[in-house]
Amino acid sequence: MNGLMMNSPLSISSILQHAEKFHADSRIISRCPEGGIFRYTYGEAAKRSRQLANVLAKLGTRKQDRVASLAWNTHRHYELYYAVSGMGAIIHTVNPRLFPEQITYILNHAEDRIVFVDLQFIPLLEGIKSELTHIEKIVVMAPENALPDSPLELLSYETLLAQEDDQYEWPELNEEDAAALCYTSGTTGNPKGVLYSHRSTVLHAYASLSPDALNISNRSAVLPVVPMFHVNAWGIPYSTTMCGANLVLPGPGMDGASLYELIEEEQVDLLLGVPTVWLGLLQYCEQQSLTLTPVKNVVIGGSAAPLSMIKAFDQLHDAFVIHAWGMTEMSPIGTINAFSKHMVNVSREERYALQAKQGRAVFGVEMKIVDADNNPLPHNGEDYGRLLVKGPWIATGYYKSDDTSSWEDGWFDTGDVATIDASGTMRIVDRAKDVIKSGGEWISSIDLENAAMSHPAAAECAVIGVPHPKWDERPVLLMVLKPDQTLTKEDVLSFLSDKVAKWWLPDEVLFVSELPHTPTGKLLKRNLRDQYQGLFNT
Ligand code: ADP
Repeated sequence: MNGLMMNSPLSISSILQHAEKFHADSRIISRCPEGGIFRYTYGEAAKRSRQLANVLAKLGTRKQDRVASLAWNTHRHYELYYAVSGMGAIIHTVNPRLFPEQITYILNHAEDRIVFVDLQFIPLLEGIKSELTHIEKIVVMAPENALPDSPLELLSYETLLAQEDDQYEWPELNEEDAAALCYTSGTTGNPKGVLYSHRSTVLHAYASLSPDALNISNRSAVLPVVPMFHVNAWGIPYSTTMCGANLVLPGPGMDGASLYELIEEEQVDLLLGVPTVWLGLLQYCEQQSLTLTPVKNVVIGGSAAPLSMIKAFDQLHDAFVIHAWGMTEMSPIGTINAFSKHMVNVSREERYALQAKQGRAVFGVEMKIVDADNNPLPHNGEDYGRLLVKGPWIATGYYKSDDTSSWEDGWFDTGDVATIDASGTMRIVDRAKDVIKSGGEWISSIDLENAAMSHPAAAECAVIGVPHPKWDERPVLLMVLKPDQTLTKEDVLSFLSDKVAKWWLPDEVLFVSELPHTPTGKLLKRNLRDQYQGLFNT
């Protein structure tokens, strides 16, 4: 017997409609690519999103068309999220930091006919336009007077919007319809498209709000530094709209000074981003003797949050780091390490150690670890194996691809190696491809980086496995030092000697001026491995 309950389809437009009715005066603040800071309300954003839906209809957008964006986190990008998905098309956020060939591949593969672009990325489009097979219209997300001279035919977002009515009836859609598309940068082969649905997006937003998840409420002011082209800024533009939290968008200003200004002016209490962006903000605060007074929580994910960063936020800024783990294929939330009862009656140092783990699965995500033969491993915090997941916001395949190699029996293989303890807390040991295989045993590059980062002179660290004639691979530590600091290999090894097992100590410590990063701000270990592969002359 079915329950006697209504079956209202979950839809992205309903999130905005709800905000317009119940949170019309909650605010969106956005640093603009053409300069200045723009401030308005969800009520006004809802109107402009309807005007934009009319623009899209005029430009010939049909149901399930892909509409591309090459843009920072701004209020216009926000409007595009809602207008495109709301009208039944698919917002395709493209990472402008990718190589031009990858961007060309992605735009052609998705068959985008319209691209919405920020001023800064016009030169990029000029460089690849002749290779683009489907793009018919380029809309620059700026007022007419900010548009540069260009060989391309450019339309102004603001001019198009001003010509349209703010009346638009959002169509009723099937909740399984595709709503958003994001390609993972992929370390091998071409980027792969992850296609989110209305249903997956709405469920993910619901889950994110809980006090045991990202803890976002009507009273929050939220600054996602994680880009809207990277897994929909971890879903934040949907979450804040659902509950009417103020949304603060950094535009192109991701440096310490620009972030600090927004945090202070808008009394931001929740920050979200990958560890590298916080290195810049923490350094800026240290140099200028500033404190992030309004900030209560900092969500760190995308790469392991270093223990030293968890401590710095707590001790210098009284801010709690919510460590989170996920993937593009997971919308992205998998586990969240919120302030739990296990953290209450323990010492600070013990709490930091707990926070350095990636946390427990949020309701909706199922998790297991398996050995090489797919046998489940015990949740004892010691045994480690491949981490598999399933759930309603996890991908079942890639867009227009027959690559099913990551799926088996309804589970998705994350490519991560992890432990899970009796409380269900998951700890990422490493990415399967980054783990260092030394003499038949595994060394976690993340744990070694964490230990090295706890040195007060360390600014950033990367540990890679380098081929070795005797041990198969041995760890090499690359270290960027803070300004005016000097260290020797011996200093570092003696510092590490009581922090990791003796056989984990790096065979080489190299001091470098900077480390390479992926377009999403993660350490680019593949490049480092290529660069140093001959170090031990195998
Ligand atoms: P890409 O890096 O390829 O753009 P994703 O952003 O989807 O793709 O990256 C997902 C991967 O990032 C995870 O599989 C995991 O290896 C890593 N990751 C994400 N969050 C964490 C975390 N908190 N700790 C350690 N690794 C993480």
